Amino acid sequence: MAGKTINTNEQQNMLENIEENLDPIVCSEKQFDKAIRYVKELKKGLIEFLKKPKRINIVNFPIEMDDGSVKTFSGFRVVHNRVFGPGKGGIRYHPDVTMEEVVSLAKLMTWKCALVNIPFGGAKGGVVCNVKDLSENEKRHITRRFTAELADNIGPHIDIPAPDLYTDEQTMAWIFDTYDMLHPGENNWPVVTGKPIGMGGSYGRHEATGNGVYFATERFLSKALLPDQQTVAGARVVIQGLGNVGAIAAKAFFRNGAKIIAVSDSQGGVYRESGFDPDELLAFKNKHGTIVGMPDTMTMTNPDMLELECDILIPAALSNQIRADNAGRIKAKIIVEAANNPTTPTADEILLERGIYLIPDIIANAGGVSVSYFEWVQNQANEQWDLKEVNDRLQKKMYQTMDDAFRRWQEYVVGDKLPAGITKDQTVCVKPSFRCIALSIAIERVAGATLLRGIWP
Ligand code: NAD
Repeated sequence: MAGKTINTNEQQNMLENIEENLDPIVCSEKQFDKAIRYVKELKKGLIEFLKKPKRINIVNFPIEMDDGSVKTFSGFRVVHNRVFGPGKGGIRYHPDVTMEEVVSLAKLMTWKCALVNIPFGGAKGGVVCNVKDLSENEKRHITRRFTAELADNIGPHIDIPAPDLYTDEQTMAWIFDTYDMLHPGENNWPVVTGKPIGMGGSYGRHEATGNGVYFATERFLSKALLPDQQTVAGARVVIQGLGNVGAIAAKAFFRNGAKIIAVSDSQGGVYRESGFDPDELLAFKNKHGTIVGMPDTMTMTNPDMLELECDILIPAALSNQIRADNAGRIKAKIIVEAANNPTTPTADEILLERGIYLIPDIIANAGGVSVSYFEWVQNQANEQWDLKEVNDRLQKKMYQTMDDAFRRWQEYVVGDKLPAGITKDQTVCVKPSFRCIALSIAIERVAGATLLRGIWP
């Protein structure tokens, strides 16, 4: 099934000229609207509730910079849904963060937590800033002030942040410390996850998202949809983004025999047909700040790299990287969404039509929140599990999640099942994508739990 290309210039030009609405809320609603056709017995009145965020906090605060000047920063924290438990989701620091983006990412967290069966709702946060222009001191001040501004809207049983784009273990340590100063006398370790190992963090959390990307791919390949590629061994892999997730995923794929032929960071991409050892890439990046310029490589732009001939393409950086204007030229057999929202809804349709498989973000990068949950459990019990125990539990979660989605997907694709309201003689496309099915399972679980709890009062 994989690999059908769009072969006439006319078709390609038509796709490139599609005016796509990339508003993150519009994109997430399009995905939701498609998925609910596959939800069993969804009470109509719940749809609006499931679409809307429960709570949005917007804060603006001043920071005294190192040179004595004062700058005002804006931050957001959104809780989308709390039906299964406290909000859970990362905080990103990026100059392009918007409230709309944070809302759509919080929704994604609701579906991700429900899909991997952990007792959290969805949340997300962001601060509009460019960490590349900030000193360590300024980052610490922004983090502490943002945490203080959020006040009791976060908490171990209310809303639990974690790392995301351009935030890390150190950022989480500052969040914990600030919250702990404001709430003395309580076990505050579980207020935030992704903390340093020596400070309430879990073994394996730093590597969890990247390793989870690998486990999801491994399980998917074992289903033999691609008869010539039932393991990652020998697969030619392209990875966009060499941050936490991309670098760890690169190591896991490399360890298991894949060939990493191209990688990029924010400066651009590098290609080498004979493949890269991820340690070599990271050593060069640590020394030079970028992988661009590595010896014996061909430099390419990020957009060109996405279109390389390969078996597995892993976007592990920003959203909206695969769109209507380039989806027709993607040559990978499988796309594994390590990043959140890297593919637009129109691109999704083009890829589905072309027979390119896609493991969606809510499965592919769910390893991070799964081990965040393990960290939260360890913090409540004041325990620290060893690395093997964490990794074994992670692998089991990723396999179960993939199996659940695969089983349901097969009912529609191999079996004779049709979505709600569609009869056999209608000529609509009834073969859903994995995203559609994975989302429908999550929505079904959240909707079911909402009704079981009973609508208050
Ligand atoms: P990170 O800050 O560690 O790394 C981001 C990487 O993206 C960097 O290598 C950067 O150079 C690269 N990048 C930035 N702009 C780029 C561009 N225009 N083109 C190509 N590369 C670019 O972030 P991360 O934690 O690795 O997160 C990456 C993605 O994974 C994000 O979408 C995030 O939401 C998602 N994610 C992260 C986690 C986690 O546990 N960290 C969990 C789930 C999902």
